[in-house]
Amino acid sequence: MSAAEADWTSAVGLLAAYDEVVLACHVGPDGDALGSMLALGIALRDRGTKVRASFGSEPFEVPAAYTGLPGLDLLVPVAQIPEAPGLLVIFDTGSIDRLGALADRVPAAADVLVIDHHVSNTRFGTVNLVDVDAAATAVVVVELLDRLGLPLTAEIAAPVYTGLVTDTGSFKYAGTTPAVHELAARLLATGIRHDLISRDIWDNASFGYVQLLGAACARAVLEPAAVAGLGLVWTTVTDADLTATGLALSDVEGVIDVVRTAREAEVAAVLKHDPADGWLKVSTRSKGAVDVGAVCGSLGGGGHRFAAGFTSGDDIDGTLDQLRAALAAAPHLPV
Ligand code: 5GP
Ligand code: MN
Repeated sequence: MSAAEADWTSAVGLLAAYDEVVLACHVGPDGDALGSMLALGIALRDRGTKVRASFGSEPFEVPAAYTGLPGLDLLVPVAQIPEAPGLLVIFDTGSIDRLGALADRVPAAADVLVIDHHVSNTRFGTVNLVDVDAAATAVVVVELLDRLGLPLTAEIAAPVYTGLVTDTGSFKYAGTTPAVHELAARLLATGIRHDLISRDIWDNASFGYVQLLGAACARAVLEPAAVAGLGLVWTTVTDADLTATGLALSDVEGVIDVVRTAREAEVAAVLKHDPADGWLKVSTRSKGAVDVGAVCGSLGGGGHRFAAGFTSGDDIDGTLDQLRAALAAAPHLPV
């Protein structure tokens, strides 16, 4: 469902009332989180607003796929974000804990505008623009720009396109509606180099990543009986993998995209060791017959119906046992 008309009015009112805003998105930002945030950030700066944007990841680094985006100069480390912002705008973030080191700014801010499309969104803003039917948070941002009467320049279109292609898997996933393609056409008409944007996102691996991917795929396990007979394929990314290749956790998000292509399994999972805290960061995907968002929700995480995750303080065996049990109990959806 789209956001209510009253919420749009409140959101437009908030952005008109402040001449200084703080923007934030979830830790380990993906193309939609970062793209949505930069797009609105550029538009607000162009109209004369003071904009500071950040995300609560340690270390504070923009993933390589997004280092060519316009608006990165709006980014400042968490330490430079005021402790009690006036207006805090939060992108692509379903719950406060996903803000990491910026989570404490939410209760401290005078106004909090949440812009998102996660079904699991907990509506933690004073105003919530949550459209669970939107293919990406970036789609909600464009509607907001239109309602604010701000122009969609090529500089803004590039991060919007980044969010759109990231969250639709290059226009492959369910939810890629005619309106998504119409928006893509509008973005391309601004003159953006969509080919270079896509290359930066999809064809931009280091050689170390190719080797890590090979190692992770080589030890993948197929469990045909799991998920009540629909099948599970899973693998791990260990500390040793990251150390050997010099990669960060944010560099290995794409491993799941390869593992999930195994047709023998309805559900795919990648368990990644987070060197920062020793916890496991679990990514899950389903082909459409299982709501992994609900499954991960029951394990303390969340996400979308067919792409979700959770974090676990347990070891690999214990975490897998919990995941197997939750998947075995999950209802099967009509595909
Ligand atoms: P990924 O597997 O790519 O990290 O995440 C897939 C989806 O699940 C994203 O939409 C992300 O927001 C959500 N997600 C991943 N990990 C977590 C988590 O630990 N908690 C919650 N609430 N959502 C998560
Ligand atoms: Mn998103």
